[in-house]
Amino acid sequence: MGTTEQTQTQVNMISVDLLVIGGGPGGYHAAFDAADRGMKVALADENATLGGVCLNRGCIPSKALLHVAALIQETRRASEWGATYADPSIDLDKLRAWKDATVQRMAKGLDELARQRKVQTFQGRAKLTGASSAEIAGHGRVEFKHCLLATGSRPKSPSLFHPLGNLLMDSTSALALENIPQKLLVLGGGYIGLEMGTVYAALGSRVTVVEMQSALLPGVDSDLVRPLARNLASMFETIHLDTKVTSASIVNGEVQVGMQKGSEETLETFSKILVSVGREPNTQALGLEHTAVQLEEGGFIKTDSNGRTDEPGIFAIGDIVAGAMLAHKASHDAQRAINWIERGEAGKSSVIPAVVFTDPEIAWCGLSETDARRKGIAFHVSRFPWSASGRAQAMGRGEGLTKLILEPESNKILGMGVVGVNAGELIGEGVLAMNMGASAKDLAHAVHPHPTLSETISEAAFAGMGQAIHIYKRPRK
Ligand code: FAD
Repeated sequence: MGTTEQTQTQVNMISVDLLVIGGGPGGYHAAFDAADRGMKVALADENATLGGVCLNRGCIPSKALLHVAALIQETRRASEWGATYADPSIDLDKLRAWKDATVQRMAKGLDELARQRKVQTFQGRAKLTGASSAEIAGHGRVEFKHCLLATGSRPKSPSLFHPLGNLLMDSTSALALENIPQKLLVLGGGYIGLEMGTVYAALGSRVTVVEMQSALLPGVDSDLVRPLARNLASMFETIHLDTKVTSASIVNGEVQVGMQKGSEETLETFSKILVSVGREPNTQALGLEHTAVQLEEGGFIKTDSNGRTDEPGIFAIGDIVAGAMLAHKASHDAQRAINWIERGEAGKSSVIPAVVFTDPEIAWCGLSETDARRKGIAFHVSRFPWSASGRAQAMGRGEGLTKLILEPESNKILGMGVVGVNAGELIGEGVLAMNMGASAKDLAHAVHPHPTLSETISEAAFAGMGQAIHIYKRPRK
């Protein structure tokens, strides 16, 4: 952002159709879309680069590191297939530089796209001063017809861990890769903890995960989590479930952590601790008190499904509103809000997929089996195990599973779940199928190329209709 001509502009007062606060995947998507529709747009972000958490300290740097982690794991597996590699030697400076260069390349691209669209970008913290005005620190006052709040979220930081100083990491400092701790405790078995744990384990840390609930990735269907849990059990030193961290202090330059499982209490020492116990919305010091914008449970901004807040003219999207805290959900929110601002009508809504980029990956969309049971929704499941997929077997990855959640009579697709390598690339087909109201028959009769992992989707669909060629199912009564 620092490179654009507009950023250098010192404004005493400008007037725009749309002010966007926050330049993450929600904010920049909204700004670019609005500019494409002919609006005069200003975009403020306190960061030096556009892209928000996702590009600068989330999705992209973590995936760059996970790519390297996957490569390391794959070379280890290769010895089973007769290709034996020596243990990798890690040049941390080079690895960090590669990750940072990836982020910088993408950020430069966003800057250029903002410039081409004549979106005025400002680096500075923005604050609402009324229902149609804001102040951008270091720049000045902006008057707007509409404002879109997209200020995202930050990691939760329990005060118990504050005395640990630089022995404590959150997702941002973990991505900075200061060093490779010998013994790392990851607190939280959600997707960010498991992704970062995977990175550090591949780079050589002995990783322990502590999760308060009785399973990793709480809430995700257990048959999808099982193959991942098995692989993580061999990659990580220990996984403690149903366990709480009750104390943490520095002893002889290391972190001594107290853990409690039922009535059993233990003390263990780690080189560092990564706390990933969730995220909270950035709604503080936004000047909301000068407007009618309301907050709801968890501190999220209250909106309708088009991002409209209680203040006409002010919209909110992405991680600061309730729902999945995911980049593509923020971008989808942006599209709907801009549609409303331009035309006063709701845009088409889409199913929001979710992907955990571990090894193997887990991806799902629509109704999960867990939710269907909890809500008492009638469904049946069809599963296709990857042990019967030629492509999965040829990759040595037969542990995967593709499943469809189907409406009992019509076989309409209510949800899809996948665990296995590249599950994240496969789930898009489930999203498209659901958005189009497709049934198992539609998926089954779309010819999928052989041999690919995508065949597991049509096989699961055939199984849902009664019989799939590569597995035998007793006919349903
Ligand atoms: P953000 O991306 O959080 O952007 C908000 C921006 O607003 C920030 O730049 C912030 O500095 C700025 N800001 C805040 N307050 C102000 C203010 N008052 N004035 C000016 N600027 C302000 N999601 C996925 O979909 N896939 C993934 O693989 C994935 N991986 C992740 C990995 C990690 C380690 C983390 C932490 C997150 C990951 N996420 C992933 C989540 C994803 O990053 C977020 O859901 C997404 O960035 C939210 O987008 P947003 O536009 O709502 O806000």
